[in-house]
Amino acid sequence: MSEKIQAIRGMHDILPELTPRWQYVESVLRRVMGAYGYREIRLPIVEKTELFKRSIGEVTDIVEKEMYTFDDRNGDSLTLRPEGTAGCLRACLEHSLLHNQTQRLWYMGQMFRHERPQKGRYRQFHQLGVEAYGMPGPDIDAELILLCRRLWRVLGIDRKLELQINSLGTAEERIAYRARLVDYFQAHFDALDEDSRRRLNTNPLRILDSKNPALAAVIAGAPVLTQELNETSRVHFQSLRHRLEDAGVAYVVNPRLVRGLDYYSRTVFEWVTQELGAQGTVCAGGRYDGLIEQLGGKASTAVGFALGMERLIDLLDAPERFDAAAAPHAYLIAVGELAEAKATRLAESLRDALPDLHLQLHCGGGSFKSQFKRADKSGAALALILGDDEARDQTISVKSLRNDEGQKTLTIAELITFLHTLM
Ligand code: ATP
Ligand code: MG
Repeated sequence: MSEKIQAIRGMHDILPELTPRWQYVESVLRRVMGAYGYREIRLPIVEKTELFKRSIGEVTDIVEKEMYTFDDRNGDSLTLRPEGTAGCLRACLEHSLLHNQTQRLWYMGQMFRHERPQKGRYRQFHQLGVEAYGMPGPDIDAELILLCRRLWRVLGIDRKLELQINSLGTAEERIAYRARLVDYFQAHFDALDEDSRRRLNTNPLRILDSKNPALAAVIAGAPVLTQELNETSRVHFQSLRHRLEDAGVAYVVNPRLVRGLDYYSRTVFEWVTQELGAQGTVCAGGRYDGLIEQLGGKASTAVGFALGMERLIDLLDAPERFDAAAAPHAYLIAVGELAEAKATRLAESLRDALPDLHLQLHCGGGSFKSQFKRADKSGAALALILGDDEARDQTISVKSLRNDEGQKTLTIAELITFLHTLM
């Protein structure tokens, strides 16, 4: 036998027992997006490498070390998307979707990052991304946060998530702050770890985001950006806070929240949980007004978030309650020559009559006993039994596979009525 080929480390199959959870979550996400008037956009999984370098920033974790980049056969450098914001904006600029109009968009799908695989951190994972273009005010920032809260409520996990917000000001405000921050960390150079020393020159704000507990004290003493904001940024942040308070959304202001990507300005937020260990951020986003121009568009405004679907599914209560949804309602067994000849047609006519019926037809023959075993294993609620007698009389026997109710024989019309009541 040849050696078995395995999946790539950190890239997981979602097996049939687990797909019902995914389908449930996806259907909730779709429904809530619709409730706020967001429309779906579908984007390529591969883009030019340049797009991510220019948008995410050269000195971020993603671009420095996490991208799956390769040369295609023409020698063009391509990258499997590590996130969706850049591609979404690229598509909108390419198709003039931002010209004198606003857009509310969402997308869902695989993202790829070459990280060290662990629980909640994979090399292929799924995000829901939501983006709103052309709206500069805190009203749309608040809308996105409320949309998240509605998702958590519908999914029954709102008590497990805490909202953290911060304002990063504008690029100009950050220049002054950055200089002060560098001065501060220079003065505490001995206390920094290797990563942070490197970031001191490239991206000092990211030091604030460090997860190394040894740095907590020095980070706690660092100057705070929200105290350096100008009037416009301060009003924007205040107004967002008022809107959240007015809507009864609990939040904490976390001045250390800087987000990993370069492109954010003003509002940033994260929904975090204590229930998933180190990988506690389920959803993260913010305003990124500068990115549109950076990608060659006419200056406009943008705000969005991305939600990690694996982490979201890990937060569901009793996820096994969805597993049964994968089982068929009924499993059709046919024993005997005449019965076997008629079974396919019978199954088709049942599906004609009941389009929502999930019916599995036994294929591959075998004894009554072995077919019945398969029926049980399928998880179906009912076995429909077609023997030669039934086939001749145009009837069918029905037996519950999940309780002790006895077997009964019905006409096809009676069966259809009976199945109808079950759905
Ligand atoms: P982290 O700090 O966990 O690395 P990040 O800042 O890199 O997160 P974003 O780029 O903001 O994450 O992505 C948004 C969300 O996508 C995260 O909050 C998380 O839920 C999810 N996510 C990011 N990277 C991964 C991954 N490698 N595996 C699974 N989910 C991920
Ligand atoms: Mg990351």
